[in-house]
Amino acid sequence: MVMDKPRPGALRYNQTPYTREIINRFSPYDDARVVAVMKGAQIGFSTTVLVPAIGWMIVNNPANSYLMVGSPDLIPKASERVDKMIDSAGIASYIRSQSARRANRKTGDTDTKKDFAGGYVSIGSANNHKNIAQVDLQYILLDDLDQMKGESKTSGNLLKLIEKRAAAYKDSYKMFLISTPMEKHKSLILPAYLEGDRRHYYIECQCCHEPILIKWDIREGEIINPLTGEVANNRGGITWDVDPISGELDEKSVGYCCYKCGGWFSDKNKYDFLNGGIWQPTAKAQRPQYYSYHISSLYAPLWMFDWKHSVRDWIKAHPEGDKRDEREYQVFANTVLGECYEGEAIETSSKNIQRNRQDYPSGIVPESLSRQYGNGDIVMLTCSADLNGLIEDARLDYEVVAWDRLGASWSVIHGSIGTFQRGDSANKERPKMTYEYGKENSVWKQYEKVLDTIWQVDTGRQMKIRVSGLDTSNFTTYAYEFMDRTNHYILGIKGDTESKFKRKAADVALFKRGASRQDMWILEVNAIKDINSEYMALKWDKAEDSQPIGFMNFPQISNDGIYNKANFFDHFEAEECIISVNSVGETVSKWQKKHSKVANHMLDCRIYNIAVRDIAVYIFGVKMKKGKEFSWIDYCNMIK
Ligand SMILES: [Zn+2]
Repeated sequence: MVMDKPRPGALRYNQTPYTREIINRFSPYDDARVVAVMKGAQIGFSTTVLVPAIGWMIVNNPANSYLMVGSPDLIPKASERVDKMIDSAGIASYIRSQSARRANRKTGDTDTKKDFAGGYVSIGSANNHKNIAQVDLQYILLDDLDQMKGESKTSGNLLKLIEKRAAAYKDSYKMFLISTPMEKHKSLILPAYLEGDRRHYYIECQCCHEPILIKWDIREGEIINPLTGEVANNRGGITWDVDPISGELDEKSVGYCCYKCGGWFSDKNKYDFLNGGIWQPTAKAQRPQYYSYHISSLYAPLWMFDWKHSVRDWIKAHPEGDKRDEREYQVFANTVLGECYEGEAIETSSKNIQRNRQDYPSGIVPESLSRQYGNGDIVMLTCSADLNGLIEDARLDYEVVAWDRLGASWSVIHGSIGTFQRGDSANKERPKMTYEYGKENSVWKQYEKVLDTIWQVDTGRQMKIRVSGLDTSNFTTYAYEFMDRTNHYILGIKGDTESKFKRKAADVALFKRGASRQDMWILEVNAIKDINSEYMALKWDKAEDSQPIGFMNFPQISNDGIYNKANFFDHFEAEECIISVNSVGETVSKWQKKHSKVANHMLDCRIYNIAVRDIAVYIFGVKMKKGKEFSWIDYCNMIK
């Protein structure tokens, strides 16, 4: 293969020695079936792996093959590269000519399919992978997978589907997946890389001559190779200086600090140390004959992408005296580090709301305190329940909340009905409850008592729960049966699909009517959780006239062990908000549990309480023909 500018001449692997082992995986004498490469940008994989592999195959082992690129607009470029390779390698005579094709009465498939004796190479994108649904393929080459747009890629089965096309060649097929990664939650290359033996490229330190990795930043004690147990002793990574006066990067100062010896070297000998490098696996592959590789652009040949270039990208993402620029940082993480962009996480802490315990006992509606703090009367009681456990081992968690005129909240009581605990289903001793209505041990019987309760207000009057919400996402038929049978005013509620990232929009409807029943409501859970996290962060100075709107109050005194850290407050910090940037550059976010073991029931109950209060006000506004802008304040004024 002969290359154009900027390095004209025959293709030589000493420019990108790290791709040598990978192209050799294409050999019929190599046992590799799947090869996954997660890489930085501009590091030569299309040129030195995918394109020459096709050329080799045409001449030496012709078979049906497919080159898939990330999106349709990348097809012409890929096609052009294959054409250039065919011409420059002098193998054009192998390709069946256009006139021969016409004689075969094939039409319309000129650029994207090359026929030759014994096979063809078809060039397409993931969006039209269905075109290959019926064909047998021996060679499948996937380039830039993470560029794929649209929902189909989240299915994760796409790669499995494509690999099935090679079933006829069980013992000889090759599937190569090569991509710069993008967002973590939708990456295809990351899981493909993790499935293999995760090879890293070791070079010789220019100071201590030990094999080391080139990584952006290495912390002390960070384990580098889990197979050998090798641990980094020192901090290491790319270092540089910035001129303190001009703020300009001092180019001569850019170099690498070895995490083994602490020595420093620049990239001027890169050609040599790359050629002395070696791939080392760092994990056991999850299936045999599966090899995977990770390499950052810090390994690119000097004339493609030097370390100064990477440092400039990092500086661009970290403006002086300002917070990290997420767009720029994503570009840096993907193209330089060859790593997925994870986005920032906003964590909530329950420390702040634990300070909001006020001088009232649980089970009492603290109206006098609300008046005293300047918030006015208590206007409404809401209750919400979250359903957990199993049908025959139920646990219903609930919280009753009082809302004052100002819109601040006062938690009145919380509790659990049923004894289900995750990981404790084998315990036969504890009494189990059921979601079946009418049974002696039904959770509904006890929940009905909560809803029946007449609550004492500390100003002497009594209140009942105005509206309650029931999460019907799980145990739907049982929840509906209860809603149909009870005399209480219950709204069925359901979160939208929580796993999805949502655009961070300023103005989004928090709920909409569900289609299945008149009393069903679908919540925009991410948005309500955003609001709740703002409420959790509110601070109140007692010298002020009133509490801030949305302020959360909790009882100081509770006799029966409720409102402690583990059974209540910890739930409020069980989730974090992941902020990311989607493929069109919009900021998106979603709330998710910090890990699978944390409990978040009371957080869910609170989210539902916020929602049912707003839905109750909305329904009232509609009934009174007040329109959609009818607010909590309007409601308070109307009911006096
Ligand atoms: Zn060293």
